[in-house]
Amino acid sequence: MAVVKADGYGHGLERVARALEGADAFGVAALSDADRLRAAGLSQPIVLLSGFDEADDLPQLRRLGVETVVHHISQVEMLEQAGDGDPIRCWLKVDTGMHRLGFAPEQVHQAHARLSAAASVADGIVLMNHFASSDEFDPASPGSRQTREQQRAFAAAIEGLAGARSLANSAAVLGWPDAHADWIRPGGLLYGISAVDGRNGEDFGLRPAMTLSTRLIAVNAVRKGERIGYAATWQCPEDMLIGVAAIGYGDGYPRAAPSGTPVRVAGHDTQVIGRVSMDLMTIDLRGIPQAKVGDPVVLWGPELPVERIAQVSGTIGYELTCSITRRVRFVES
Ligand code: PLP
Repeated sequence: MAVVKADGYGHGLERVARALEGADAFGVAALSDADRLRAAGLSQPIVLLSGFDEADDLPQLRRLGVETVVHHISQVEMLEQAGDGDPIRCWLKVDTGMHRLGFAPEQVHQAHARLSAAASVADGIVLMNHFASSDEFDPASPGSRQTREQQRAFAAAIEGLAGARSLANSAAVLGWPDAHADWIRPGGLLYGISAVDGRNGEDFGLRPAMTLSTRLIAVNAVRKGERIGYAATWQCPEDMLIGVAAIGYGDGYPRAAPSGTPVRVAGHDTQVIGRVSMDLMTIDLRGIPQAKVGDPVVLWGPELPVERIAQVSGTIGYELTCSITRRVRFVES
């Protein structure tokens, strides 16, 4: 299952789904995304990973042919009352220790029996869970212990039940082969983004799908001792050239990126200096004396992992690609 929720992790839902059309299913979090995929002509199975919230959603699930995660008894009740019509395929979610969505292990058999008996539910209920810490691979780490415990809890909760099983997100695809089961559910991995703290996609042989780039719109000579940008947070240590790039937090580049955050100008590594503002950022051009207005500026991409920007900004690569705003123009290459 290719997880394409949150607008394909910010890469554009329809664009990503077309690129991944060989996937056996798509995972989304909102019914509106399923609607968009069908409107784009995609006919693969779609699974609503957060499930539906009200009975009124069920006719739409049927109309769109969307499968749904069932994680709460209120959803079982709604399905029981939904009556005949095209049956809906359900993914029964077990809470094996993440304590976000899912039935407690001791409720699983009863929920499964009720779903199996409901006329509105298709045969072949899939059994799933979700890992909290599968990005910790060191067998001695607490996260690794938690993943093993979640695997054990899942096996115990579904014992005796027939049906395909699904456990693995990207990190488990990479590091927990014994959890691959019948359906893997990678998201970040498909976009070349690492799901593993402190590691880049390329550490796992992945290539980032997204490059975020802009251009220099000004190159200014600034004297030693002058201060740059809002709140004057960076002071020039010498007479130097400063570049101004047309990108800021209004485009989704993180305002939290501090001075020193890596950036590339015309193929050269350099750094952000001063505060990132809404539409602009300032860049150290020492070492790039030939830099000129119009030069390309790469904020992240295959030559500059988004994880590095995320790490110094106190977040993860997923959040950065998801945060790109509408005014950014997408160009497919
Ligand atoms: N499966 C479920 C239920 C999820 O909620 C997510 C995303 O959070 C994924 C799979 C994909 O996770 P990742 O992008 O880390 O592979």
